[in-house]
Amino acid sequence: MSRVYNFSAGPAVLPEEVLREAADEMMDYKGTGMSVMEMSHRSKAYDTIIKEAEADLRDLMNIPDNYKVLFLQGGASQQFAMIPMNLMKNKKAAYIVTGQWAKKAYQEAKLYGDAVEVASSADKTFSYIPDCSDLDIPEDADYVYICENNTIYGTKFKELPNTKGHTLVSDVSSCFLSEPVDVTKYGVIYGGVQKNVGPAGVVVVIIREDLITEDVLEGTPTMLRYKIHADAESLYNTPPAYGIYICGKVFKWLKKMGGLSVMKERNEEKAKILYDFLDESKLFKGTVVAKDRSLMNVPFVTGNDELDAKFVKEAADAGFVNLKGHRSVGGMRASIYNAMPKEGVEKLVAFMKKFEEENA
Ligand SMILES: *Cc1c(COP(=O)(O)O)cnc(C)c1O
Repeated sequence: MSRVYNFSAGPAVLPEEVLREAADEMMDYKGTGMSVMEMSHRSKAYDTIIKEAEADLRDLMNIPDNYKVLFLQGGASQQFAMIPMNLMKNKKAAYIVTGQWAKKAYQEAKLYGDAVEVASSADKTFSYIPDCSDLDIPEDADYVYICENNTIYGTKFKELPNTKGHTLVSDVSSCFLSEPVDVTKYGVIYGGVQKNVGPAGVVVVIIREDLITEDVLEGTPTMLRYKIHADAESLYNTPPAYGIYICGKVFKWLKKMGGLSVMKERNEEKAKILYDFLDESKLFKGTVVAKDRSLMNVPFVTGNDELDAKFVKEAADAGFVNLKGHRSVGGMRASIYNAMPKEGVEKLVAFMKKFEEENA
């Protein structure tokens, strides 16, 4: 068996320990004689799996009792519609557009009401986070929406926007569980898990209870109502059962590692190795304003498309895979999520140094 260093933005690297455990339990999960994939989601064994997953997540993130945790399907993108359908009571919401995922959410919301773009960093290809301390937020906006870590462009909100008392909704797909968060500052925190937590298809939604109501937009399908899933404790229909089981294992791994403050330290240490090199390199350059740099997604360029392509190819041959930047921006991007070991980043930087010498 040979494993590569996988710098994919998502689906992405998972902890080896978790994959091994899942492999061990593949044929016979804890004496049940079957795989979790083959198990009824109404069984006792599965009930324990999903309840423990929720309890461990609550523990990790310190989620207050007045928030529900939902394990849903449809990925992060389904939330682009579910949020306005459930939350737009006044049919108005404020969107901060800091990249493609925020833009997609904003465009989707326009299908359901008056989505207002209150800030954007499109003028400089989303290479920074705009000042959100005093935005012109409509009085009757039902919520303010952000994408907290911009996977494609590599920026991160280091400070939450001043919502002027409005509910904050945040897409944390690519920074989920990478550092501690104060859940009480948000109305909704949600993330597709395939970036930092588990297999694609599962989306975790953490939502304050008072936002879960029957008063949703007319025509909202049953499956897209938060209340249906909250009342059924994420078992209204068959959930993405195997995916939730793997997420549960990652939650336990994170607890064992020491929790989210330890992850933050590790992630800062890893990101610093790469950013310090980019700052001193004569060949490679980071593309993001320094103060807004993400700890998870690190885009960089040489300034020469051919050299970029040569780097991506030679890196892959050397076992550093998926370093090609998003198709919309080009260049390179190293995603260094929780499960990427420090050693992977150190070795990548050593490879980049060698490439720089050879191509000077
Ligand atoms: C990947 C990503 C999405 C889309 O996730 P899907 O599960 O494919 O719908 C949305 N937002 C962010 C920030 C992402 O990184």
